[in-house]
Amino acid sequence: MNFTTPLAVVPRIGPVYQKRLKAMGITSVRDLLFHFPRTYQDLSVITPLASAKEGEEYCFKGTLGGLEERRTFKKRMSIVESILTDKTGSMRIVWFNQPYLKETLQQGQEVFLAGKVVRDAQGVYLSGPSYEKAGNNPIHTARLVPIYQETRYVSSKWLRSIIYMLLRSLENLQETFPAELLKEQGLPLFKDALWNIHFPRNQKEAELARKRFSFEELFSISLFVLTERKKLSEVKAPIIIFSPDIIKRFTAKLPFELTDAQKKAAWHILKDIANPRPMNRILQGDVGSGKTVVAAMASLAAVKAGFQVVLMAPTEILAQQHFRTVGQALAPFKITIGLLTGKSDRFISPKLPNDFIEISRKKLLEKTKEGTIDVLIGTHALIQDKVKFNNLALVIIDEQHRFGVQQRKKLQPKTDLIPHFLSMTATPIPRTLAMTLYGDLDPTVIDELPKGRKKVETRIVDPDQRKKAYEFIRKQVKEGRQVFVICPRIAAPEGGEPRPAISWAGNEVKTVKEEYEKLSRDVFPEFEVAMLHGKMGAPEKEQIMRRLKRGKTNILVSTSVVEVGVDIPNATVMMIEGADRFGLAQLHQFRGRVGRAEHQSYCLLFSESDAIKTKQRLKALLESENGFQLAEKDLQLRGPGDFSGNKQWGLPDFAMENLANLPLVEKTREAAEKLLEQDISLKRHPLLKKRVEELREKLHLE
Ligand code: ADP
Ligand code: MG
Repeated sequence: MNFTTPLAVVPRIGPVYQKRLKAMGITSVRDLLFHFPRTYQDLSVITPLASAKEGEEYCFKGTLGGLEERRTFKKRMSIVESILTDKTGSMRIVWFNQPYLKETLQQGQEVFLAGKVVRDAQGVYLSGPSYEKAGNNPIHTARLVPIYQETRYVSSKWLRSIIYMLLRSLENLQETFPAELLKEQGLPLFKDALWNIHFPRNQKEAELARKRFSFEELFSISLFVLTERKKLSEVKAPIIIFSPDIIKRFTAKLPFELTDAQKKAAWHILKDIANPRPMNRILQGDVGSGKTVVAAMASLAAVKAGFQVVLMAPTEILAQQHFRTVGQALAPFKITIGLLTGKSDRFISPKLPNDFIEISRKKLLEKTKEGTIDVLIGTHALIQDKVKFNNLALVIIDEQHRFGVQQRKKLQPKTDLIPHFLSMTATPIPRTLAMTLYGDLDPTVIDELPKGRKKVETRIVDPDQRKKAYEFIRKQVKEGRQVFVICPRIAAPEGGEPRPAISWAGNEVKTVKEEYEKLSRDVFPEFEVAMLHGKMGAPEKEQIMRRLKRGKTNILVSTSVVEVGVDIPNATVMMIEGADRFGLAQLHQFRGRVGRAEHQSYCLLFSESDAIKTKQRLKALLESENGFQLAEKDLQLRGPGDFSGNKQWGLPDFAMENLANLPLVEKTREAAEKLLEQDISLKRHPLLKKRVEELREKLHLE
């Protein structure tokens, strides 16, 4: 058996368990073995029965007496009873609801029992202990016992047995690290670390094992970003010479003056793309800082130099918005823009600055391939084999994504040149992440908001103040402003009893459909209230966004589909239901949907959870309007998963946790640099090379 053995052929993992494991994200032997314990229970000390005290937990070793089962009269509950005896004395044992124990255990057997000593009318007894045949290799008792992240259907006990069995039967556990590195860093061998993280003899062994795996994760990430950098240095990109005159004309036509930070960022980018070294830049700027116009400027420069540009957005709504705003900004320059999303495609021809023509996907792809579409905007649908360009020189991705050299080549099959790359994000990147996951990208920061923006007033609203909040919203709408109401879910779960959805905190989870009905019918019958969620069709979404943008819709009830990028400058209230269900990054993004013009704006947080962690998080949001501080805060409170988009990176939680550890990050980075100095292509380290390839698959957008 080895890491790639399918779970289906592992003994004791039938179809049912395969399904249960899959729900936990475990689909291979490797995943199972990398499902590391959450903690360990110390049952390593065997206590003589005579010295046990009531109320404490112990591990005992002794001989079992006869086993008897009875049923309680009232509840018909099964009770199995026995007696444990050692050299120092005996004690009664009681197991509830485990009738099978009568069969599993036998009189006269030597066993380890671990559990709590309690008292009833008949005296002290050992209550529901875990049990194991006494022997040299216990795994559930008489040692440091691994405790796993478990579910209702997959217990720690089951995981322990399976993992133990797998560890014993694994063949060819190859070492990934060179011996020198292990020695230098004082890390255990892979094989030993894998055993010791699950079944350590002492805490020290467990810690060392964990240290090794942390090191390995970060080390691989560092190798990955450093080799990406290297690859990039070996290819060339088109030189985009821009005409300052056109840039001046562009800025003159804007309805506002660019901030200094925008000018600086644009300058960086324009200088970069005038160079044959492919740009690999990440443009960070808080929500509302005006990144889009910078992207439009770079696009203009590229198109006017005779090239094509592709701009990708994370959602359809955002792609449509970019299509309109970038289209408008570029319209005076006779630039052809196409929109390609999952469902509908269209393009703006230069003769129709404020209108567009719907065309078929086939036509749009043809035009792109010939080079008649100058800027192609869209969603993920843009990255498919069918989309080919004539002379693509710039790839812009909104809201952080990575785009590898290979992928860039694919879009551009005709030449050896690869396009420049610009990634834009409102998610600030804490230092440790900048050194690891983003280590191959050059940062440019827009650290200034446009003039006249007021701080968004953020408040946590008590449930009994809801009416007042609605009156406040009414006043804002009457003054001509617009409002977002965010709900965590689209609709109550279908089927079953019609009871409200209950969140983990035991509260009702607001749904878009119910809130929409309530607000449009009962609370604000005099206003236009609309509803938006991800399950709607593209044309419907677009229609709703258009009415909102034109100011026709007063209140939009929505799911998190409006989380990123949506730009409605006239909106002044962001009301968030079930705020406890969103991460800080998300809440900050939501808040960024308002305060995008000169009007004073408000963010109202409703949360029915009293959990301390929730309060801490929401308070952090009140105290900080700055995304960077929030990101650091969130990194401390929840680990980096939330802010940097754990899901997006597809890294295991284990790896993400380590990303917050700055000294470790620095150490692994140095070690990776050193190794690459000696073996740049990782030829002499095939296993590390394989890990890096795996990461590439995972981290690059497919
Ligand atoms: P983000 O950086 O969050 O993507 P956008 O590019 O969507 O922000 O810009 C937010 C809003 O600010 C838009 O309505 C945009 O037109 C406006 N804007 C951008 N730059 C400026 C500026 N220098 N002065 C005033 N408004 C600006
Ligand atoms: Mg944006």
